[in-house]
Amino acid sequence: MAYVIAEPCIGVKDRACVDACPVDCIYEDEDQLYIHPDECIDCGACVEPCPVDAIFAEDELPEKWRFYAEKNRKFFEGKEGLSPAPGKSKIDERVGN
Ligand code: SF4
Ligand code: SF4
Repeated sequence: MAYVIAEPCIGVKDRACVDACPVDCIYEDEDQLYIHPDECIDCGACVEPCPVDAIFAEDELPEKWRFYAEKNRKFFEGKEGLSPAPGKSKIDERVGN
């Protein structure tokens, strides 16, 4: 099992979760960020920092967002060698904040 990013991330994508993840298993696509289901160690550290409560343990996903578990998994199919998303702190450094 893994943690899953659901709908509230769409359009927010602030990467606070990336900074919190100890194993760099959060990746970015155009619409939202995704947690790699095989790399996630189920620590839960990303849940609290998310400003829009988008992250859930897979078995605690609200019913209406259950398909996000599959959406997260599908994102990684055939994509070996992807680089994890840069964290919020890294992005802030780049823009000089
Ligand atoms: S639960 Fe832990 S390992 Fe999994 S994505 Fe969140 S911070 Fe990373
Ligand atoms: S902290 Fe929440 S809103 Fe921000 S990128 Fe991560 S899942 Fe998306």
